[in-house]
Amino acid sequence: MLRVAVIGSGPSGVYTAQTLVEQEDVPDVEVHVLDRLPCPYGLVRYGVAPDHEKIKSLQNNLRAVLEHPRVHFLGNVEVGEAGVSLAQLQEIFHAVVFCVGAATDRHLNIPGEDLPGSYPATDFVAWYSAHPDAAVDGFTLTAGSAVVIGVGNVAVDVARMLSRGAAELASTDMPQGALGAMADSRVEDVWMVGRRGPSQAKFTTKELRELGALPGTRVLVRPEELALDPAYRDPSTLPAPMRRNVEVLRDWAERPVAMAAGVGRERRIHLRFFLRPVELLGDPATGVRAVRFERTVPDGHGGVAGTGEYEEIAGQLVLRSVGYRGQPQPGLPFDEASGTVPHADGRVLKDGQPYPGVYVAGWIKRGPTGVIGTNRPCAKETARSLLADAAGLAGRPVAAEPVAALERIGARPVPWRGWLAIEAAEAERGRSLGRGTVKLADWDGLLRAARSVLVGR
Ligand code: NAP
Repeated sequence: MLRVAVIGSGPSGVYTAQTLVEQEDVPDVEVHVLDRLPCPYGLVRYGVAPDHEKIKSLQNNLRAVLEHPRVHFLGNVEVGEAGVSLAQLQEIFHAVVFCVGAATDRHLNIPGEDLPGSYPATDFVAWYSAHPDAAVDGFTLTAGSAVVIGVGNVAVDVARMLSRGAAELASTDMPQGALGAMADSRVEDVWMVGRRGPSQAKFTTKELRELGALPGTRVLVRPEELALDPAYRDPSTLPAPMRRNVEVLRDWAERPVAMAAGVGRERRIHLRFFLRPVELLGDPATGVRAVRFERTVPDGHGGVAGTGEYEEIAGQLVLRSVGYRGQPQPGLPFDEASGTVPHADGRVLKDGQPYPGVYVAGWIKRGPTGVIGTNRPCAKETARSLLADAAGLAGRPVAAEPVAALERIGARPVPWRGWLAIEAAEAERGRSLGRGTVKLADWDGLLRAARSVLVGR
C-alpha cells in the first residue's frame, strides 16, 4: 500500500487524488486529502462567484472523487508553521503532494493603497463567499462609485457582483449578511480599469460577455481609447481568446448594448484601458475618494509607456484585482520571482535535485493562471510522476493509522461525515431563511456543525 497525503482539496488536489486512485495497474494507492478548512473544494467553494452556479456545480464531480473508497477527506488540518510539519507528514505518509494554491494577493505598491475603503478584491470575494477567514467583517457598500483595478476574471467577477441586484442573488448560497448588504448597496458606477490595451486584457470572453447581459446595467466603453490598441482595428492576427475579447468590445463600441430590464436603479460598468494606477487619493479619516491614473500608450513590445498625462476616477470603494501570489511552504524550496515551488513534472526540486516523495500541483506549481480545467492535466502530470516513483517510496515504514497519528500530534481532523453535517446545517440555515442552501461564514458554526456527528471530538 502506498499512502499519499494531498494537501489542499481544491480542483488541483482532487484531480491529483483522482489520477492516483484511478490507475488500474496500480491498485494499492490510498489518498488522504488534507485541508486547512473543515470544508472541501478550495476555490470552487470560496472563489467561484455565487452567481456562477454552473461552475459551482463542479463540486459534484469533486465530491465523487472525495467519496471514492480509497480517498479520505480530512478537513481542519493545517499544514505548515502553525500546524503539522512536512517532517511529521513524512512519518505518516509515503508521499506528500502540495496543492495549496496561491494564498495571497499581489500589491500595487503605490501611495494610498491602504486607505480605508481600498481592499484587495480577494477580501471582497472572501466576504461574499462566506470564507471563515474573511479579513473584513462586512462591506457596507455605501459608495456611489467603485473602482476595480485590473482586467482579469477576478475583476470581472467583483464588477459583476457589485452590479447585480440582491433579488438576482437571493437564490445563491451567499451568506445572509452579504445578501443584505447587496440589497442596501448604493453603488451605481463601477469602473474596471486596465493598464494595458483591450487585446492584452486577461479576462475570458464568456465572462466579458456576461457583463453585457446584466439586468439593469449598462456597459460603457470608449471607442477612441480602445483604438489606441493597434490590434483593435484589425484583430485578425491575435490569438483566438484575445481576438474574441476585442470583437466583443468593438461590438459594444459600435452599437450601444441594449440593456436587459432590471429591478431598482440603473447601474453602469465603465471599461477603461491604458490607465496605470499611480496613487489612491483620500485621507485616513474619510477614506479613499479617487484613484489617480497615468495615461499609457503601447510601447510596441506588448508593454506600455507612461505619457505624463493623468486622470482621476472618483471612487469611495477601490478593489485591487491584480492577481494572486503563492506563499512559501515551510520545508520546501521557493522561487520568489514566480511565487512557485521549483519542480520537474511535479517532482519538487531541492538544490536542483528531486526531493524524494514530495510533489506539487496546481497554482503553487505553475502560478495563478488558467481556469479550473487547467488543473486537470497539471494534476495528472504530477500524479504520474508520483506513480512512476511508487516502487521506491512504498517500502519506507509509516505510522499504522493516519488519523490517530495526526491526532497524536495535536490535529483535530474533520472527516467526510463531518463535512456532510456542515452541508446539512447549511441546508437547514437556508430553510429557516426561506432560501436554498446558505453558507455558514464562521469557524465556530462550521466546527460546531461538523462535531455534532463526531463522538468525542
Ligand atoms: P489575472 O488574470 O492575472 O489578472 C490580473 C490583472 O491585474 C491583469 O489585468 C493585470 O494586468 C493587472 N495587473 C497586475 N499588476 C498590476 C499593476 N501593478 N497595476 C495595474 N494592473 C495590474 O488574475 P486574476 O483576475 O486574479 O485571476 C487569476 C486566475 O483565476 C486567472 O487564471 C483567471 O482566469 C482565474 N479565474 C477564472 C474565473 C472564471 O473562469 N470565471 C474567475 C476568477 C478567476 P497586466 O496584464 O498588464 O499585468
